[in-house]
Amino acid sequence: MDIRKLVRPSIHSLSAYEAREIPCRVKLDANESPYGFEVALKALQSVETNRYPDPEAKSLKRLASKEFKVKPQNILQGNGSDELIYYLITTLGGPVLYPVPTFSMYGIISQALGEKKIGIPLNGECDLDIEKILRAIRNDKPKLIFLSSPNNPTGNCFSSEKILKIIESASSKSVVVVDEAYQPFASDRGFIPMLGDYENLVIMRTLSKIGLAGLRVGFLVAGEEIISEVNKVRLPFNLNSFSQAIAVEVLKNRTLVRQNIKTIVSERKRLSRELMKMKDVRTFPSEANFILFRVADSDRVYKGLLKRGVLVRNMKGVINSCLRVTVGTPGENRAFLKALDQVLKVI
Ligand code: PMP
Repeated sequence: MDIRKLVRPSIHSLSAYEAREIPCRVKLDANESPYGFEVALKALQSVETNRYPDPEAKSLKRLASKEFKVKPQNILQGNGSDELIYYLITTLGGPVLYPVPTFSMYGIISQALGEKKIGIPLNGECDLDIEKILRAIRNDKPKLIFLSSPNNPTGNCFSSEKILKIIESASSKSVVVVDEAYQPFASDRGFIPMLGDYENLVIMRTLSKIGLAGLRVGFLVAGEEIISEVNKVRLPFNLNSFSQAIAVEVLKNRTLVRQNIKTIVSERKRLSRELMKMKDVRTFPSEANFILFRVADSDRVYKGLLKRGVLVRNMKGVINSCLRVTVGTPGENRAFLKALDQVLKVI
């Protein structure tokens, strides 16, 4: 039997998401936080392993609603924002529009669900090409528009005026999703305060970048009607009891979360300054917990860093000659800078 004959055609050209484990001393490739919350593990003691998790994640949503200053009815919980992207595309369908380069899952999930994808290249400043996007909204009528701001992998926030123009011109015809996975590290306030002004606006947030990537917890924040439509496709127990318990504990202790974010932002600034001093390195401005930088030969630099125990992300094929480094602890960042300096001297 040839199983491929039974598989939907849109799946044939997909490849499984590759998250290879590469042994290293300093892991700076996946935009994770260097700081975990082991103290929150004590919350696991109250988990009843024989019972299903709370399908509504009530305690977690209550705390998240305080954090985002919205009502719990404006929040939908996801097994990471990845799952929420799946739910949004399942609920609304395509075409799905997004700038390029950006977070790969918008395209991968669209394809998995057989929906049309529209990728619009960013302009020379890594910002949105507003004319092209507005034209595509008119001609291709996307149902969903994903804007990651700060954008992965470029690191910058898109211009707020352009995002607002897109939301306004999409109006009742498309839902605009501002993916704020990296918002905690940015200097502006993000788009949650504007939810009341635009019915077609949806925000995505995640706990993955602030120290809980292992839990898989993300949130949609939007108007009640959108939330209740997307909730129809949510699997009943999508957030397990362990993740709910730990996330609740961490969200109760916001001081520690804020302190970690402050340290990461100040380390990002230091890292950017140091990278900018290096000859033959072009550093992209970042508002996230990672920095994109260009070198003459990204393959050789990537391998040289790995040889010295430092793992970063080679962006070859996405943005040529570029590498993306996640901000680590001060010690990890020093190790990265030292290794990069050595590598650039020998190649
Ligand atoms: N959005 C963006 C822009 C991301 O970069 C990532 C993770 N790399 C995600 C969403 C996924 O986050 P989660 O871990 O919550 O699925």
